[in-house]
Amino acid sequence: MGKAKILYIEDNLDNMTLVKRVLEIEGYEVIEADNGREGLAKAMSRRPDIIITDINLPDIDGYEITDTLKKAKETAHIPVIAMTANVMKKDRENVLQAGCDGYISKPIDIDELPNQIENFLKGKSRWNK
Ligand code: MN
Repeated sequence: MGKAKILYIEDNLDNMTLVKRVLEIEGYEVIEADNGREGLAKAMSRRPDIIITDINLPDIDGYEITDTLKKAKETAHIPVIAMTANVMKKDRENVLQAGCDGYISKPIDIDELPNQIENFLKGKSRWNK
């Protein structure tokens, strides 16, 4: 497949800069959003191949973003990967219940991130820590 378009919703500038750099080196196009509403708007207008979302955001959280995306027929098919420091089992359950297609733990492992994204794009792995 051609290189995918990735929407990354993240309010932490350091994470945004790091993830964007790593993914762009791999040839992905990265669309940035630093809050939930902007993320939802860009999901609609840009139709990314995959969405990575932080959970804790200044306006609406990653669970609500995912719920909204999964209820809209235009975006329901797009894989949504939660990226969060919450690693408790309960947090994972919340992510799954919200309809996320996968989960990446923070701190981000930049050596693993490209493989994780590739696997999610291939639909290989639902839970790709
Ligand atoms: Mn955050």
